[in-house]
Amino acid sequence: MDAIAVPEKDAIASARAAGVATVRIVRVVRETADAVSLELAPESADAERFAYRPGQFLTLRIPSDLTGSVSRCYSLSSAPHEDGPLRVTVKRTVDGYGSNWLCDNAAEGMTLDVLPPAGIFTPESLDTDLLLFAGGSGITPVLSILKSVLARGTGHCTLIYANQHENSVIFAAQLAELAATHPDRLLVLHWLQSVQGLPSVAGLAALARPWAGREVFVCGPGPFMDAVAAAMAELGAPRKRVHIERFVSLSGNPFESDTAAGDVVIDDGDAAIVRVELDGEQHELTWPRRQTLLDTMLAEGLDAPYSCKEGACSACVCRVVSGEVSMRRNEILEAADIADGYVLACQAVPVTDDVTVTYD
Ligand SMILES: Cc1cc2nc3c(=O)[nH]c(=O)nc-3n(C[C@H](O)[C@H](O)[C@H](O)COP(=O)(O)OP(=O)(O)OC[C@H]3O[C@@H](n4cnc5c(N)ncnc54)[C@H](O)[C@@H]3O)c2cc1C
Repeated sequence: MDAIAVPEKDAIASARAAGVATVRIVRVVRETADAVSLELAPESADAERFAYRPGQFLTLRIPSDLTGSVSRCYSLSSAPHEDGPLRVTVKRTVDGYGSNWLCDNAAEGMTLDVLPPAGIFTPESLDTDLLLFAGGSGITPVLSILKSVLARGTGHCTLIYANQHENSVIFAAQLAELAATHPDRLLVLHWLQSVQGLPSVAGLAALARPWAGREVFVCGPGPFMDAVAAAMAELGAPRKRVHIERFVSLSGNPFESDTAAGDVVIDDGDAAIVRVELDGEQHELTWPRRQTLLDTMLAEGLDAPYSCKEGACSACVCRVVSGEVSMRRNEILEAADIADGYVLACQAVPVTDDVTVTYD
């Protein structure tokens, strides 16, 4: 199978065609000693592409002298109903490149290339009662979700929020204000490592027990999320009801990759057929067996969503309705998601001859 690579000089133009937009930083807010929020305004022509659901993230292109740029995902801490600028909140990672570059260099008036909102860490309904867990910067998508529930839904939220010490609590004042405004619908329980030690499975289970029957959303450092998952398992919460967002760095770069718009693969005859439901439209495509579903769709000119193209984010997730596919790599979907038919299009190759997937 031969692939016709997109020439390097055209890569950025291809990426732009596939969805890259420019946003302007309209305000930088110092949240804590090591976290900043960036308020971002898209061009007015792009406004529609920046409609988002609470819990979704943007992918930012961060300049680098060494590599031209790196690409990093940041969850939106703003909520759709707020109607103001988009806001991401970045916490410094020790020895990390992108987070420190943004904390040190992001300034009002600067423009950044971004991929529009993506991700599946979002509640199906704002009228559902939620149990939310956040560790450190993991508060960003969780704040967006809880503000949306309080403003636009009828659900009740309990937030268990872990931090190293009092001064590292991002959005402490905003959470206190929300809890005071909605005393019957929002309860915030802080866990401070400086006082209580590292969050333990037993401690988290004891705190969460009264709300264990709720839909659960978890975001934070790996060990924190593992402890929460174990605590919820101990409380008998079905794994399917525990939604996890993992904050990892992308190793690839969708802004500068020569496959940003999808490789065009010459059909060598070894192909499956895939029917795709996307944005309310049906498409039938020939799917070369050694090409991913995402590249197949992009090569056919479909406006399929994606961000990292390395199985690490979830921007490209879709659901298999019939047939079977396998994923080359998956760092984000849980076994329960896969059992429900969810796959990452950027990693999916066909197993059966006939496959149907939906994004709707
Ligand atoms: C969907 C999603 C949403 C996210 N939302 C947020 C958010 O809202 N806020 C937020 O702050 N973060 C968020 N993140 C995480 C964010 O994308 C970055 O991963 C984070 O900011 C760290 O990036 P960095 O470039 O600073 O660190 P990196 O440069 O990626 O480094 C990370 C760590 O790896 C180590 N490291 C780097 N290079 C090497 C190497 N070659 N060998 C060994 N170790 C190495 C570094 O020492 C450092 O400790 C999110 C991630 C995802 C996937």
